[in-house]
Amino acid sequence: MATIEQLRAKLEHDRAQVLERLELLRADTQSAEESREGSPFGKREEEATEAFELEKRLAMERRLRESLADLTHALTKFDAGTYGKCELCGNDIEPDRLEARPQASLCMRCKAQQLKSVAGAS
Ligand SMILES: [Zn+2]
Repeated sequence: MATIEQLRAKLEHDRAQVLERLELLRADTQSAEESREGSPFGKREEEATEAFELEKRLAMERRLRESLADLTHALTKFDAGTYGKCELCGNDIEPDRLEARPQASLCMRCKAQQLKSVAGAS
């Protein structure tokens, strides 16, 4: 079983990776925009592909930002001394769950409840 220190190290590692990928994505988007400006007579098909690529990049960026927020949030809980506690019921989050997903903020029970209520609302 992973120790708290190992989980923290993993979170920090993951966070650094997400930041790096966001940085790469941003550089990539910028260069794509520059090349588009350089060729004002692009074909329709190319434009459609570019729009699709941009859409994909934006979706990826959104996902990365979400996980960055989760990871950052989890890391602040180490300092607050609340890491590993469920944010809804206050019980300890299952060690297996933390090992699989160190940024988890809810215990399995509360997560299952949350998923059920989201599914029920739609
Ligand atoms: Zn809970």
